[in-house]
Amino acid sequence: MSDTLFGRIIRREIPAAIVYEDEDILGFRDIAPQAPVHVLFIPKQRVIPTLDDATAADAELLGRLLLAAAAWARSQGLAQDGYRVVMNCREHAGQTVFHLHLHLLAGAPLGRFGTP
Ligand code: AMP
Repeated sequence: MSDTLFGRIIRREIPAAIVYEDEDILGFRDIAPQAPVHVLFIPKQRVIPTLDDATAADAELLGRLLLAAAAWARSQGLAQDGYRVVMNCREHAGQTVFHLHLHLLAGAPLGRFGTP
């Protein structure tokens, strides 16, 4: 595991509000939530800096990230009203932590997105 801020959370070197964990994925609350529910899902075993660095070898892991987020949202009663998942890639998307992660945003109607 190379060292990123999220690597330190995985190793419990810095605290986080962890809400989900399995062998390959950790889910924890975003420290600066952009919605009433804002959870990050990250791969634990190796760092993929951005989605652009992912390869076909990462296909299963990427699918598992999505399914872990969906299952967690369902378990929290968030699926019926709905939620958004977002993955920021590099500068124009505002990526700040270069350890690939999925944002799950929920808990209220969300504004539209994507305009500069
Ligand atoms: P991104 O901008 O897509 O790279 O997302 C990085 C996210 O990590 C941001 O939404 C930050 O608020 C969040 N973040 C930064 N530091 C922490 C931390 N120590 N614990 C939880 N979330 C964090």
